[in-house]
Amino acid sequence: MKKDDLFEKIVAGEIPANILYQDEYVTAFEDINPQAPVHVLIVPNRNIPTLNAAEAEDEALLGKLFLAAKKLAGELSIAEDGYRIIVNCNENGGQDVFHLHMHLLGGKRLGRMLPNI
Ligand code: 5GP
Repeated sequence: MKKDDLFEKIVAGEIPANILYQDEYVTAFEDINPQAPVHVLIVPNRNIPTLNAAEAEDEALLGKLFLAAKKLAGELSIAEDGYRIIVNCNENGGQDVFHLHMHLLGGKRLGRMLPNI
C-alpha cells in the first residue's frame, strides 16, 4: 500500500487506530510510534498531500486542525503545561506520510525545537 493512502484508510476506519476525535472535516488519532507521552496526529479527512498543496479555499479546514489540536490539548490535560505542534513538509521537513498532518506533542518538556542548533 502506498503510504499516501494510509491516513485516508484510518479516517475511513479501514485501518485501525486509536481515534480520539473525528468530525466531518478532521480526524485525530494516536501516533503508532509516539515521541512523547502525548503524540496525536490531526489530519484533514480529505487528503491534502502536503502544506504546499493547500489552497486559499482550505483556509477554514486548516483552522479546524488547529482548533482540534487546542481541544485535544485540553482534554488530554497538556494545555496548561504546554505542548508543541509540528507539520513536516517534504523531504527536508522529514515528511513520511503524504497526507497533511499536524503532530500534537506533549506530556513532558520537549527540549529545544531542533537538535544541534
Ligand atoms: P511524518 O514523518 O510524515 O511527519 O509523520 C508520520 C507519522 O505517522 C509518524 O510519526 C509515524 O509514527 C506515524 N505513523 C506511520 N504509520 C502509522 C500508522 O499506521 N498508524 C498510526 N497511528 N501512525 C502512523
